[in-house]
Amino acid sequence: MKYSDDFRKPELVKNLCDAIGKIMGRIASAGTREKVRVMEFCGGHTHTLFKYGLEELLPKHSGLSIQMVHGPGCPVCVLPMSRVDQCAAIALQPDVILCSFGDALRIPGMHGNLLDAKARGADVRTVYSPLDALTIARKNPEQQVVFFALGFETTMPSTAFTVLEAEKQNIPNFSVFCNHILTSPTLRALLQDPTLELDGFVAPGHVAMVTGLDIFNFVSDEFHKPLVVSGFEPSDLLQGIYMVLLQIANGEAKIENQYTRVVKGNGSAPGLDAMTKVYMPHPILELRGFGQIGNAGVCLRPEYENFDAEKKFGHSESILKPQPTAQSQEAFRQLEELLQKSRCGEVLKGKIEPTGCPLYGELCTPHAPVGALMVSSEGSCAAYYNRGIRSRKDSLLAADA
Ligand code: SF4
Repeated sequence: MKYSDDFRKPELVKNLCDAIGKIMGRIASAGTREKVRVMEFCGGHTHTLFKYGLEELLPKHSGLSIQMVHGPGCPVCVLPMSRVDQCAAIALQPDVILCSFGDALRIPGMHGNLLDAKARGADVRTVYSPLDALTIARKNPEQQVVFFALGFETTMPSTAFTVLEAEKQNIPNFSVFCNHILTSPTLRALLQDPTLELDGFVAPGHVAMVTGLDIFNFVSDEFHKPLVVSGFEPSDLLQGIYMVLLQIANGEAKIENQYTRVVKGNGSAPGLDAMTKVYMPHPILELRGFGQIGNAGVCLRPEYENFDAEKKFGHSESILKPQPTAQSQEAFRQLEELLQKSRCGEVLKGKIEPTGCPLYGELCTPHAPVGALMVSSEGSCAAYYNRGIRSRKDSLLAADA
């Protein structure tokens, strides 16, 4: 099969669901549980689940059901508000052009988002790659051009290559506000949480395409859980779920690769090489819902500090937050109240469903998001909402149906 349509064929999806049903029968016959809890770590997989309605297709057997637990693998969702504020503060400096991917513009900070900074006069531009930002820097030598770098290992190589290119082309007015995150420390933090009872994982194929498979070995070696690296088409994801269930039925815990047409065992040598050259662990980067996780975030190595926006504009603690206007003081107070009620962290860790948050659908929607999980199409709250679950009541009705 070569084309995406081949991986969306109804007969293929049906055959995979039938195969999953048979494996569920084997697990059910052991009679030890009512649910199998499988986490799809990546927001891209969450998006596939909802876009194609796959959860509704997953078969039950003798009272045993599959619960897909939506994980934190959405870089927009795990970015803490303080980093958005820092980014806005950089954007508001004189003679700065702030370049960002589109979905990052609406991530809420405590003092608004990057679109609010733009409304206050910041030059904020949407780009499709960090190289676009480098081009803008080359064309505007009198201004400082900052790229708002986000993402797991999927986007880390492109930022690293751009930093290397900026050095090679000697473009001193380019820098990176680095918020890249590593998958395996985040996954480890989930596995170390004793309140999360997960039976297995579907892991992101595009991350493994860069890193290779070995970064996941600790999941089976230390935590004895099955993990299958999977692609993003409906049949990929169903096959990944099938492979996880087959390991559970067989009492196994291995790292397997469903996405063999893209993921090779050792990953991308050029990508890993560029990442090793450019990045080191970030000393203070936190993740929303997790707090500080050892070595989860990265920053630029000292050799590249001329391209590090945090160094160029001051250390993160000393970057001034944008001062709220008088009119926004009341909005700020209201936001603080809402944030006390929001449950983004628990949704990110898969502890509750989005509809378990009291703000869902009424005080937090994709049009007026309180949490970042309502912003990105890969965020589970936005995925629920866009699937048609517009309120907590809708969810209860669906459960009763
Ligand atoms: S509904 Fe909004 S506030 Fe609640 S968990 Fe989702 S994104 Fe966070």
